[in-house]
Amino acid sequence: MARVAVIGAGVVGVATAYLLAKAGHGVTLIDVSAGPGQGASAGNAAQLSWAYGDAMASPALLRHLPAIAMGRDPAFRIRWQLDPDFFRWGLRFLANTPFRRWWANTRDVLTLAELSRCELAALLAETDISFDYRVAGKLHLYPDRASVWAAEAGISGKKTLGLEQRLVSRAEAESIEPALRRYQAEIAGAVHTPGDALGDAAAFCCQLTSHMVERYQLSTLFGRRVTGFARNANRLTALSFADREPLPADIAVVAAGPQLRLLGHELAEARSVRPVRGYSLTVPASSVTPLVSLTDVSRKLAFASIGDRFRVAGLADVDPPGSGFDSDRFDTLRKSAAAVLPDAFEGAENLMQWSGERPTTPSSRPIIAASRHLRGVYYNVGHGMLGWTLSLGSARRLVDLIGAGDN
Ligand SMILES: Cc1cc2nc3c(=O)[nH]c(=O)nc-3n(C[C@H](O)[C@H](O)[C@H](O)COP(=O)(O)OP(=O)(O)OC[C@H]3O[C@@H](n4cnc5c(N)ncnc54)[C@H](O)[C@@H]3O)c2cc1C
Repeated sequence: MARVAVIGAGVVGVATAYLLAKAGHGVTLIDVSAGPGQGASAGNAAQLSWAYGDAMASPALLRHLPAIAMGRDPAFRIRWQLDPDFFRWGLRFLANTPFRRWWANTRDVLTLAELSRCELAALLAETDISFDYRVAGKLHLYPDRASVWAAEAGISGKKTLGLEQRLVSRAEAESIEPALRRYQAEIAGAVHTPGDALGDAAAFCCQLTSHMVERYQLSTLFGRRVTGFARNANRLTALSFADREPLPADIAVVAAGPQLRLLGHELAEARSVRPVRGYSLTVPASSVTPLVSLTDVSRKLAFASIGDRFRVAGLADVDPPGSGFDSDRFDTLRKSAAAVLPDAFEGAENLMQWSGERPTTPSSRPIIAASRHLRGVYYNVGHGMLGWTLSLGSARRLVDLIGAGDN
């Protein structure tokens, strides 16, 4: 069996390492961080959104773009960049906004999400890892009649894919999630998805890595940054590092998330992935926090009860790569969350702040492919807003691709 190196121990890399190890390959999982799950996967909204795979580039977002560009929506921020890759990415994003493209992208993402759901069921049957997994169900909250009608059209489209969603009134939503009685905003209607689940992605990464070490003799290499690839006649032979000897490998899977661009100019695919920064705040759960996951569609906020914690995640900032987080944005998120759920976020103590970058492609579809430039190198990157949801399905597709190729 092949010697496989997986670069990146976020949800995507860990899931890929798992299915590769299960298929009998000798796998080394590498990350520049000290352990698994410390990048974009660490503090995300925890949603396993099996039925909500809506691509980011959409007709609705296009209509909203002038307001975003003028800084009128606190949930979004675009910092214009004098970078040809930024404009190229932006133009490709705009080309994906027409309805036909949006639906094709959304349908592909939902198909991948369904594959993920099946792979997760198999994983849960095989392992006893615990990551606060729960089929919590989800309510998407819509503020006005127009957005409810648009949501209704979305439900019909998703029905054709066999997904179970239902439009409910505010009163029905309140009976599904009683904490909504204290929700301080207009709710003209909601979409209930009873089968959507949640779980702590960082705990998943740590627990599954330990399981792989025990069960499949996975090798790990943490605290090391891969800097490039050694080759022989255009075929991968080893991975290079700045501070240790090369690691011989037959196959490398690049699952480097938003840091893909740092892996060197030879990865042309890196140009298709741009970071879109998001933020989250986590507080201890209390008797008033909702148990059903909530998404406030107009404020772009996602709320989740993860074990004994309650989290809000949101904001989408298109900042220059590597510019770091902006501490003012935590205030923006906190104000926005406290405006609707004051009990949970106003004056909350032990509040944990986190920010991470979503590795985003113009179409919202991840890149799961063999490198066109170097044999033996594969990509599993660009999962954007849904990397946790899509991780196991993407891993399955990649492992099948490796199995089908001549490597
Ligand atoms: C605010 C927010 C909320 C979100 N909510 C959800 C949600 O509810 N549901 C959902 O499905 N998704 C959600 N996402 C998206 C999801 O978190 C990401 O898509 C996912 O974490 C990406 O995983 P990844 O493994 O590709 O990247 P990462 O988790 O960032 O992992 C990549 C790893 O590669 C390592 N690495 C990079 N380069 C190198 C190198 N050269 N050498 C060694 N190691 C390297 C990094 O250190 C990192 O650990 C959210 C994201 C954000 C920011």
